[in-house]
Amino acid sequence: MSRSSKEVPVGSFSRKSRDNRSDVEQSRATYQRALALFDQKRWSEAADGFAEAAGADPGSSSCRLFLGVSLTNAGRWEEALEPLRACLDLRPEYSEAHNALGMALGKLGRFADADEHIVHAARLGHPQAATTMRRRGIDYCRECHRPVHRTEPGTFDVNVISPKVGVQCTACDEVFCVPCLLGDADSAFNVPCLRCGGELTVMELDR
Ligand SMILES: [Zn+2]
Ligand SMILES: [Zn+2]
Repeated sequence: MSRSSKEVPVGSFSRKSRDNRSDVEQSRATYQRALALFDQKRWSEAADGFAEAAGADPGSSSCRLFLGVSLTNAGRWEEALEPLRACLDLRPEYSEAHNALGMALGKLGRFADADEHIVHAARLGHPQAATTMRRRGIDYCRECHRPVHRTEPGTFDVNVISPKVGVQCTACDEVFCVPCLLGDADSAFNVPCLRCGGELTVMELDR
């Protein structure tokens, strides 16, 4: 191998890494400016800044989270979905991003999709998501994590049990969905709690 053929790749590599470093510094400065706008509740201007910072830093989950939240707060819910999904691609168990995506989907009236992300955020310990979950009368199966719904008190008909209904143990409070309880059984109501063997009851909305 000749001397020049060694030097060319090394030279181009160090030039590239210098460019990358200044890109990162640039995007950090843009990010800080956008955060200041965010604190001032200047949502659309903040979104522009976070979009620029996200473009310069493809691996940043926080740029994408703040971009999505800024757009949501600006009432631009449809636009908020893409950066929040991109954020979750980078960081699948990010409770803030699940909560933010759930809120944006809820604003768009896409409640089934919203519920998936709200219960995911709650499962990861997000306090606002836990409150939203209770307010919306939902919970999640502790076995498979799918959202389940509380029913109106006194309106439950065992003959038309919906797979979306939540069932709770009267002894240990664990929550299950009907498909997880059923397995090979004929009725979810013949099945004891999967954790403690206790008696199960259909979850009702708070009166
Ligand atoms: Zn389940
Ligand atoms: Zn139990």
